Amino acid sequence: MQSSETVRRIEELRRIIKENNEAYYVYDSPKITDFEYDELFRELKRLEKENPELITPESPTQNLGDKTLEGFKEITHKYRLYSLDNSNNFDDLRKWYERVKKEYPKENDLELVVELKIDGLSCALSYEKGKLKLGATRGNGIIGENITENIKTIKSIPQELSKPIDIEVRGEVYMPVSSFERLNEDNIENGIKEFANPRNAAAGSLRQLNPEVTGKRDLHFFAYTAITPNSKEFDTHKQALDLLSELGFTVNENHKKAQGIEEVIEFCKKWETERFNLDYATDGMVIKINDIAKQNELGYTSRAPKWATAFKFPPEEVWTKLKDIELSVGKTGAVTPVAILEPVQLAGTIVKRASLHNFDEINRLGINVGNEVLIKKAAEIIPKVIRKRDYEDLGEYKAPDECPICHTKLVKPEGEVILYCPNSLNCPAQIKGKIEYWASKEAMDIDGIGGSIVDKLWTNNLVEDFADLYKLTIDDFMKLDLIKEKSADNLYNAIQNSKNPSMTKFLTALSIKLIGKETADLIANEFPTLNDIKNAKVEDLIKIDGIGEKAALSITEFFDDENNKRILKKLEEYGVTPRGSVVERISNIFEGKTFVITGTLSKPRNIFEERIKQLGGKTSSSVSKKTSYVLAGENPGSKFDKATQLGVIILSEEDFIRLSEGNINEQKF
Ligand code: NAD
Repeated sequence: MQSSETVRRIEELRRIIKENNEAYYVYDSPKITDFEYDELFRELKRLEKENPELITPESPTQNLGDKTLEGFKEITHKYRLYSLDNSNNFDDLRKWYERVKKEYPKENDLELVVELKIDGLSCALSYEKGKLKLGATRGNGIIGENITENIKTIKSIPQELSKPIDIEVRGEVYMPVSSFERLNEDNIENGIKEFANPRNAAAGSLRQLNPEVTGKRDLHFFAYTAITPNSKEFDTHKQALDLLSELGFTVNENHKKAQGIEEVIEFCKKWETERFNLDYATDGMVIKINDIAKQNELGYTSRAPKWATAFKFPPEEVWTKLKDIELSVGKTGAVTPVAILEPVQLAGTIVKRASLHNFDEINRLGINVGNEVLIKKAAEIIPKVIRKRDYEDLGEYKAPDECPICHTKLVKPEGEVILYCPNSLNCPAQIKGKIEYWASKEAMDIDGIGGSIVDKLWTNNLVEDFADLYKLTIDDFMKLDLIKEKSADNLYNAIQNSKNPSMTKFLTALSIKLIGKETADLIANEFPTLNDIKNAKVEDLIKIDGIGEKAALSITEFFDDENNKRILKKLEEYGVTPRGSVVERISNIFEGKTFVITGTLSKPRNIFEERIKQLGGKTSSSVSKKTSYVLAGENPGSKFDKATQLGVIILSEEDFIRLSEGNINEQKF
C-alpha cells in the first residue's frame, strides 16, 4: 500500500516532467538540464514500478510528451515513432541485455549494434519511388509536424535517392557545435535570446514557420533507421545502415557491431571521453539488437522499443571563478545572493550565474569572492555552487545588514534562514518584482511586459504598482526606448486585453504570500466573486480542502491591508474584473454524473465543462470506474481507450447535446 507521501511525490514528478516537456519540445527552450530531467523521470519510473496501481495512461512514463507547435500542419505517421529507455550506468545496461537474452536461451551472445546518440531532433522522411514526399517531426509518435519544406533546405538530406524505392528514413537533424556557437554570438550581437545548447538550436531552426530561416541555419542529418514496407531490403540493422549510405544519406561512422554487452560497454567508455573531440553534440550511446526479426519479436512498450536502449553520458561539473556575489531582492522582499561567475561551458550551456540560496549556505560552503568554485547543474534553472578548492581560504563572506536597493535594515524572521527587506510598501525592487510577476505567464500572461520594460516604466515614473499598468497609454510606451519587436501598440493592447482574467489568474497575480496558482485555483472554485473572497474569514477559507491556516491567514491579511485595498480599488476603476469560476446551476439533470472530456471538440473545452456544471454534473481529468461519461471529440487520446476498457459510456458531441437537452436517456447507450 502506498503512502500519501508517495502519491504526492508521483503527482509532483508528473507535473514537473510535463512542464519541462513543454519547455523542451514545444518551445525548444529547456529550463533544466537533460541530466536533471532524466533523474526526475527515473525517480517517477521507480515509484510507479513499486506502486503499479498508481500508473495512469496520462503519466509521462506511458507516452511521449512531445506536442506539436501551432502553425505547423499536423500529420499522422504511417509508422509510429518511439523514444528510447535509458540508463546512466553500465549495470543497468547489463540488466537490459539479460532481460532480452532470456528470450533466446539457446543462443550465446546476441549481436548488437552500438552507435552514438546524436543530440538533435528526430525526423521521419518518407520517400516514394525514391523521391522525398514528406518530412515530419516525431511529435507524440503518432502525430507529428509537417516540416517538408524546411527539410528540403538541408543539404545532407537527398531529395532523390540512388534507387527508386519506397522507404521511410529516420534520423537526427543536428547543428554542429561550431555553428551553434557562431549563431549564439550573432544572437548576442543582435539582442536575440541565445539557444541553451546545440540541440535546441537545431530544433528551433528546423521548426521555423518560414523555411527561408531554416535554410540560413547550418543543419545536418544523420540517418539511423530504415523502413521499407514494399520490399525486403535487409535482415539486420547494420545492413539497414549500409543501405542508407548507399541511398545517399550520411550515416554516422562511429558505430560498431558488437557480440554481447561487454563489447558494447568498452565502446561506450571510449566515447565517454572522445565525444568532446566531435563537432556535434552526443548525449550518449544507443544499443540495438542487430537482427530485425528479433526486433519484431521483442516489440515495444507504450513509449519505447524493448529491442533497444540508450546509455546516457554523465553530466559535467566544472570549476570556475566566483567574480562577485550579487544581491537580488524578490517580490516578497527576500534577499538572495547570486554567484556571478567567470563564464564557462557546462553540459552544453554557457554559465555565468549560479544559485547560492541564502547567506547561511555561503558560510557553509566557506566561499568568498575570488574563490575558485565547482559548479554543477542541479534541479534549479540556474546551476549550483557545490564547493570551493580546499586549499583556498579567502575569509568569511559577511551578509548585508541593509537592503541593497532601499537601504532598509533587513530582518530574519524566527526559524527562517532568509533575510527580508521589510519595506514592502516602498522598496522599488519589491514593487517592480510584483509588477513583473503580475504580467508573467503564470499570472496575467501579458505578452511583452518583462523585467526590462518594467524597469523603464519605473524609471520614467509611469507606474507605482501593477494596477498602474492599466492607465498606461500608447504615448507612454512611445516615451520608452523600446526594442523593435515590442511596439507600443502591442504592449498597450496586451495590457488592455488582460482586463478580464480568470479568477485563478487574478488571485495568483496579486503576489499574496503562500498563494500560488494551485491554491488560487482552489479558492476560485469555491467563491463566486472577488467580493466573496475579500469578505471570507479564516474559518471559511480553511474549510476548503488544501488550504491550511497559514495560507488562510495570509489571504485575510492581504485583503485587510490598506495599501492592497488601494491597489484593488484602482484595478476596479481601470476595469480589471476577474471572471468567477463558480458556475450557476440551471438544472440537475447531470446531478451525480462525472464527465471526462477527450479529443478535439467543435468549441473550446471550457464551454462544455461549464455546461456540465450548469446542469449539476462534475468534470474530471482522468477516467476511472466512477466516470459516468467520456465526451470524446476528434483524435481522442488514451482516455478513450481506458473508457472502452472500463465500459464507460462514450458520448459524441452530438450525443452530449441531446443528453443535455433531455432528448435522450442513459438507457439508449
Ligand atoms: P531520448 O532523446 O532520450 O532518446 C530517444 C531519441 O534519441 C530518439 O527519438 C532519437 O531522436 C534520438 N537518437 C539519437 N541518436 C539515435 C540513434 N543513433 N538511434 C536511435 N535514436 C537516436 O528521448 P526523447 O523521448 O527524445 O527525449 C527524452 C530526453 O530528452 C530526456 O531523456 C532528456 O534527456 C531530454 N529532455 C529534456 C528536457 C529538459 O527539460 N531538459 C525535457 C524533456 C526531454
